[in-house]
Amino acid sequence: MDGVTIVKHPLVQHKLTLLRDKTRSTKVFRELFNEIGTLLCYEVTRDLPLETVEVETPLAVMKSPVLSGKKLVLAPVGRAGMGFLDGMLNLVPSARVAHVGVYRDPRTLVAVEYFFKAPDDMADRLALVLHPMLATGNSAVAAVDRLKEAGAKAVRIVCLLATEQAIEKLRAHHPDVHVWTAAVDESINDQGYILPGLGDVGDRMFGTR
Ligand code: URA
Repeated sequence: MDGVTIVKHPLVQHKLTLLRDKTRSTKVFRELFNEIGTLLCYEVTRDLPLETVEVETPLAVMKSPVLSGKKLVLAPVGRAGMGFLDGMLNLVPSARVAHVGVYRDPRTLVAVEYFFKAPDDMADRLALVLHPMLATGNSAVAAVDRLKEAGAKAVRIVCLLATEQAIEKLRAHHPDVHVWTAAVDESINDQGYILPGLGDVGDRMFGTR
């Protein structure tokens, strides 16, 4: 599928299967989510640009690579997106965070914004949208729209699960936005949940049901 990278790393696949299990406790669910966030962050940042600086080791002076340019913006979407945040900040502790408060109306499945706050210099930073469950694509499209309105020029989406219909919708609206996901599941049900999926991520992560 164009515009999508499926992260097949065995650790990601193993942890995803553990998450799918409905008997997983809230505590373990949250821990696994964070761990997968770290692993996906590693994959999505593979091609970040580097520049060479001079560094003095205890024994000699040498040229060595460091990340070039401004640091990333991590943009968690809704409750589920928060599940990846700490795990990603473990790897990129200087990243900025843009909060994209978007929820899915349970009746219409339309994305509704309730909060948005992003750094002023979005245009100079790569934005990683943390959107674990790409079900209909509606809230992902709304989140990317909003980040671009705020100035973002380079945007990537990090998911746990996606559906083909959501990826197609996203590609139609934002062909420049690449998606990283651990798996593409079969379909969604009439309440907008991914099948077979792993249920309501916000509820499972925060223990609200
Ligand atoms: N959000 C969830 O939490 N689960 C889904 O399956 C889809 C959207």
